[in-house]
Amino acid sequence: MKYSWILFDADNTLFDFTHSQKKALEHTFEAFGIKYHDDLFPLFTALNNRIWKAFDENKITHEEIKTERFKVLFNDIGVKNINLDLFNIKFIDNLILYSKLIVGTEQFILNMHKKVNMAIITNGMKEVQRPRFDNCKIKDKFKHIFISGEMGLSKPNKEYFEIVHKITGNAEKSKYLVVGDNIIADVWGGKNYGFDTCWYNQHKTKNEKKEFTDYEINKIEELSMILT
Ligand SMILES: [Mg+2]
Repeated sequence: MKYSWILFDADNTLFDFTHSQKKALEHTFEAFGIKYHDDLFPLFTALNNRIWKAFDENKITHEEIKTERFKVLFNDIGVKNINLDLFNIKFIDNLILYSKLIVGTEQFILNMHKKVNMAIITNGMKEVQRPRFDNCKIKDKFKHIFISGEMGLSKPNKEYFEIVHKITGNAEKSKYLVVGDNIIADVWGGKNYGFDTCWYNQHKTKNEKKEFTDYEINKIEELSMILT
């Protein structure tokens, strides 16, 4: 095996996060008696990405993200008098409830875990990520789970990867492969630290960071060819 460690991003790499976010938004709107329509999802995704980017740039904290994204959303669509803390709690409950692995992931991880060490490296909130990981059947196949919200550091920061490297035993950097869908946080971040990288390009979009990408896959099964 070329690598000793595979470091998987979680959302939209192992888990179908787009699906859970869509379901969570829809059902939380319903629970609060607010009319939901499909146009809201792209609106929410765009502003959520903006807010997480602000977090990556240290302009906003994890705590602030929780309510800020809904404050902006409700402001944009003209909905008033919603308790943002309660809305966020319900949204997180629904994210956990509607969490699901991408098709093919479970089988791949079950086949692969005996051949190589695996860990999860994720930017996210512990109260969302921990229960989602606890509820999934493959959690114990990962030797470590690194959650930015618990570490106080996030990808693509070098310090994040340094901690991951240290805790996984400081093997040679060339023995690590980072697999993730985010070209900046996972691919650029991983390469910048010195690990090999594999971009999980599920939607076959153009690679703007080719020089940082060692491999590119559209499905998790394609990893087998890289690993052997
Ligand atoms: Mg991701």
